[in-house]
Amino acid sequence: MPDDDSRFVIIGGGLAGAKAAETLRAEGFTGAIALIGDELERPYERPPLSKGYLLGTEERDKAFVHPRKWYAEQRIDLQTGTPVTALRPGEHEVELPGGQRLDYRKLLLVTGARVRRLDVPGAGLPGVYYLRRIEDADALRAVLVEGARVVVIGGGWIGLEVAAAARRHGAEVALVTLDPPLERVLGPEVAPVFADLHTEHGVRLHVGRGVETIAAADGHVAGVVFDNGDALDCGVVVIGIGVIPVTELAEQAGLEVDDGVLVDAALRTSDPDVYAAGDVANATHPLLGVRIRVEHWANALNGGPAAARSMLGQEVSYDRLPYFFSDQYDLGMEYTGHAPPGSYDQVVFRGDVRGREFLAFWLSDGRVRAGMNVNIWGVTDDIQRLIRSGEVLDPSRLGDPRVPLAEL
Ligand code: NAP
Repeated sequence: MPDDDSRFVIIGGGLAGAKAAETLRAEGFTGAIALIGDELERPYERPPLSKGYLLGTEERDKAFVHPRKWYAEQRIDLQTGTPVTALRPGEHEVELPGGQRLDYRKLLLVTGARVRRLDVPGAGLPGVYYLRRIEDADALRAVLVEGARVVVIGGGWIGLEVAAAARRHGAEVALVTLDPPLERVLGPEVAPVFADLHTEHGVRLHVGRGVETIAAADGHVAGVVFDNGDALDCGVVVIGIGVIPVTELAEQAGLEVDDGVLVDAALRTSDPDVYAAGDVANATHPLLGVRIRVEHWANALNGGPAAARSMLGQEVSYDRLPYFFSDQYDLGMEYTGHAPPGSYDQVVFRGDVRGREFLAFWLSDGRVRAGMNVNIWGVTDDIQRLIRSGEVLDPSRLGDPRVPLAEL
């Protein structure tokens, strides 16, 4: 355990940072902790921003990771609205706006990701929204209303969850995507479940379309124009076309960066006293045997604490399987594992796909690489066990709901 007068600095005031700070204290670290983030709000969780809070079913306050007073009680020096301007691993110091320097013994980079911006004329108009921060959700809540005409650009998780929320508020929604929604994540076997879900809930899908221009009238969004010249009228455009890891500080500091900050299984960067976790970390996964950068909530929730333990000198091998969940209309799902298209050779369904109550498994060489449960709960542990076991399974038994998962 590092001595009492050493300081640990956490750069990034999101879920991973807050959970890392919590873990440092829970593990008995009594030295100074500085938690420095550029967002104005104290650390919060992002899932409610595109789900419960956007739907109006969850209070804004529920998103925050800890009550405001918790930081003082835990002697965590929380500095919000403070973009760190430099990291100097050689000097073991960071620089804050205004030139103030802060030394550290160990440092954690949890700088997260920022939205990818759509680079077309009109993308900066009033009426164009992105969704990443809590203030984005505040702004969206005000415009996703009965009768609003909304175009969502991007068929990833943000696009689909926003479309579902907008429909729930009574907006007219068109979803514009290059590839079929979620196809790049789930593959062509499972992705149509989501396209059908949205179509049935009144979303008009425009697949295979690029947006060339966002049109204006009276200085406000009035529509989108496709690359084939077709156009859609609307008053609100929401763009969800992915995120980019925030790596500038790491790059300037000379750390190894390649689609995120490179870390080993102990979440240590190329500098032995600097660690990274959450969206920004591109980590060697000890079980999957590949490097992956996971942009989901569970990776912030678990990666922050794992990095904290590693910073304290504990033996850490961060081998959590990727996990995420989504809620859209009456469909709730969880996905665990890692099986992007191209990495699997078979998909096995179990249950009622049309009725949206089923499991899907992605396999390669007869081994389960990932599984998804739709409107069936309490199976994540079983799915993870199947993935971790690496055993070759009989697909007919895997797909047979009469065979308990525990017996596979
Ligand atoms: P995402 O899930 O990575 O999806 C991005 C989507 O944008 C993809 O469908 C992609 O299509 C499309 N796209 C990329 N460039 C485009 C362009 N120039 N024009 C039109 N479409 C384009 O990202 P996201 O939905 O923006 O979400 C942001 C992050 O938050 C992601 O990391 C996501 O996983 C996370 N998130 C997670 C959840 C959850 O776990 N439930 C919910 C919300 C957000 P192609 O595939 O065709 O390139």
